[in-house]
Amino acid sequence: MAEEAIYNNEISINDQWEEICKQLKMEFGETAFDSWLKPLSVDSLHNGVMSLCAPTAFMKNWVITHYSDRIHRIWERKNPEIKELQFIVQTPGDGSLIKHIRKTPTPQSLYTLTNYTANSCNEADSSAARLNAAYTFENFVVGKTNEFAYAAARRVAESRNISFNPLFLYSGVGLGKTHLLHAIAQHIKKTDPNRTVVYISAEQFLYKFVNALRYKDTDAFKEQFRSVDVLMIDDVQFLANKNKTQDEFFYTFNSLIESGKQIILSADKSPNDLDGIENRLKSRLNSGLVADIMPTDFELRFGILQKKAEQLGITLPENVAEFLAQKITSNIRELEGSLKRIAAHSLLLSGHEITLDMTQDVLKDMLRSIDRKTTIDEIQKKVAEYFNISVKEMQSSRRARNVARPRQIAMYLAKQLTSRSLPEIGRKFDRDHTTVMHAVRKVEELIIEDSSMSESIEALKHALDN
Ligand code: ADP
Ligand code: MG
Repeated sequence: MAEEAIYNNEISINDQWEEICKQLKMEFGETAFDSWLKPLSVDSLHNGVMSLCAPTAFMKNWVITHYSDRIHRIWERKNPEIKELQFIVQTPGDGSLIKHIRKTPTPQSLYTLTNYTANSCNEADSSAARLNAAYTFENFVVGKTNEFAYAAARRVAESRNISFNPLFLYSGVGLGKTHLLHAIAQHIKKTDPNRTVVYISAEQFLYKFVNALRYKDTDAFKEQFRSVDVLMIDDVQFLANKNKTQDEFFYTFNSLIESGKQIILSADKSPNDLDGIENRLKSRLNSGLVADIMPTDFELRFGILQKKAEQLGITLPENVAEFLAQKITSNIRELEGSLKRIAAHSLLLSGHEITLDMTQDVLKDMLRSIDRKTTIDEIQKKVAEYFNISVKEMQSSRRARNVARPRQIAMYLAKQLTSRSLPEIGRKFDRDHTTVMHAVRKVEELIIEDSSMSESIEALKHALDN
């Protein structure tokens, strides 16, 4: 009995965490979520103190400064029992699906950066992010949409002479940039272990730089990045409007290029389209080879499903692969996620064969939202109708309550019912993403405080469901 209670309690806490994750992903965007929040796991709830595990001290620290207040607020609302959040460092056990090939960095080396020496490979590793052992060239499925980026990455990884410098990869989310970067790093480390390779996300780069400034340790910071053979910075769009960090990056960049070292970068847009990046830096980013990964096509999605099924050791019937490749077109991460869900289902119900019926059943929520495809336009129209205002008024700059409130509700519903990002939603209302975020929070609060609000939301959701 007692055990069952504990078990149920754990399940509900894990469920709560899952829901909270969805919301965090919505608020902070997929990239930030994947980098910082997804790696967290629930540990325990004791006397009102909720403990969450982070895989490294670095992450723990980052989450505490950037996200813990928000996590606390959302959780408190879901579960008033929770009075305090606590973060602990715990590396995932060996049972985890993804094995990291790097040792957990020691907090010491991450915070101070002073014990870095250019010739020591291990120290270099500990200052950078870990590489995912599964992200190799061998595991990368090549198709029309990514063959150019793949070829460029291979060339850079294989040639000892600098051919393209910098190599700049860009694409939308979940299309393989990080995978290719890790593949290059692992290839070089294997074939040429004397070269120092540092892979780091732009967010970490920024974080380290800010810390170096704070602890007046910028010399060590500079030394750390200027003495590597290959420097990779992932998601450089994060440096937007961070002018000091951009300056530092600019100098590091020039110094590495001058001394014939390789630089590899990724971003979600081409250098010219990156907002908030200084022009002189843009032109540097453009000066080597720029390669994009295009949205996937059916063949690639089909090929990836087959490859991943093989790796997971499951038999994926062709009609199921076809069905998934047709339906899940957004990105490879989602495609992979859906396959893992089916695989888990079939493994847990031991030997449960994978069929089209079973797939449709297991993925029904996901498929429903794909089929339904509620658009922001529809939401605006329905909400405007419901409150007797026009769509024009909703998009206008008027702030009167009778217009502003419906506008906030429409923003909230757009966030809930579509997969659009905050900036995308903002654009539809001629507002920026912070306004949308504020609206979402406001409506969430009102739903709790005001029953007529929750009724309106329910009615609107129902109206939009058809
Ligand atoms: P991005 O950095 O562009 O957001 P990722 O590199 O994180 O995307 O890729 C998302 C997921 O999709 C990863 O699990 C990655 O291994 C997988 N993936 C992406 N492209 C391919 C590909 N061509 N072949 C196999 N897996 C891929
Ligand atoms: Mg990435």
